Amino acid sequence: MLEKKVRWAAKYPFDRDAINYFKSVALPIKDYVTEYKDVIEYAYNRALNSLRGRINLDWDNDYVEGISFYLAALIIAGTNNFYLYKRFSDIEAKRAYKILQRESIENILRLSNNLDLSISSEDEVINIFYIDFIRLTKGISSIHWRLYNFRLHKGYVNLHKKAFARLLTEVIKNKIYDIVSSIREIPEEIVFYSNKIMDNVTIPRKEPDEIIELKDRKKAALFPPCVKYLLENVKQGLSHPGRFTLVTFLHRIGYDVDEIVNVFKVTPDFNERMTRYQVEHITGMRGSRIEYNIPSCKKIRSYGYCIPDEICKKYNIRHPLKYIKIKRRLLSHEAEG
Ligand code: SF4
Repeated sequence: MLEKKVRWAAKYPFDRDAINYFKSVALPIKDYVTEYKDVIEYAYNRALNSLRGRINLDWDNDYVEGISFYLAALIIAGTNNFYLYKRFSDIEAKRAYKILQRESIENILRLSNNLDLSISSEDEVINIFYIDFIRLTKGISSIHWRLYNFRLHKGYVNLHKKAFARLLTEVIKNKIYDIVSSIREIPEEIVFYSNKIMDNVTIPRKEPDEIIELKDRKKAALFPPCVKYLLENVKQGLSHPGRFTLVTFLHRIGYDVDEIVNVFKVTPDFNERMTRYQVEHITGMRGSRIEYNIPSCKKIRSYGYCIPDEICKKYNIRHPLKYIKIKRRLLSHEAEG
């Protein structure tokens, strides 16, 4: 019985049963840092690997696996960086998704219940209220997840196990984010590991929210010359680095997958399925789940797409997003003047 409890807690350390279990058996933090140093080191590696997109599904000790989630959450919370909170939550949720693939319907129902998601099941089909379905699919950009693609019966969406596991991953992601962001006090012993994380990860520079407004096509006038060139040449077909640059750029300024796929519709031999697959891969929704950054100007130059204008030269632009910020500023000065 106890063995089963620990096993469950190792797989889903964020759920109600696991939290209750660890509340009763966790040791003081200082014990993990002094007496059981291998546990804190394990947790540190878990945190670091999550941020690097690596998932571990193979562990020896259920207790250490479970408790390391909490220690890793503390370490991440100690960075005080919301980007890292999100990254950690995303990858930990993906870990749970992989485990869920092998889970029985009974256990999936148990996990849903422990995460306060109300569902029912019949003959291997899981039924979820359509409002919950819409709420949970909001963050999933693939057109596949539109309500009209699913069977709806008396207000409930009918899903098979795998599809439901994907939805449950959204709940898990939010739950883990809540756990990390609700930690207010970081034990002194943990700060060392949080600092070590900050020294070992690259954090994309946060762009101001105003960049997102560029989704408005009318503001495409602010796009740097390299991106304008790529957009003008989509019709002719772009090289792989050209497509990569364009996809990362459009994604970063707020285009969703459907909008990016639409941009490529004019490509000769356009294949929607393949394009969507590639876009989802580059934007971190598939495969390695790495959300790739826009290449630097140096890189774009090496691809042969850098066609610098006066702004690029005068302001020594090193990144396409920097170009936008400067051009926006210049245009607003012109408008005021
Ligand atoms: S300098 Fe940078 S922003 Fe300007 S065209 Fe070249 S790659 Fe694009």
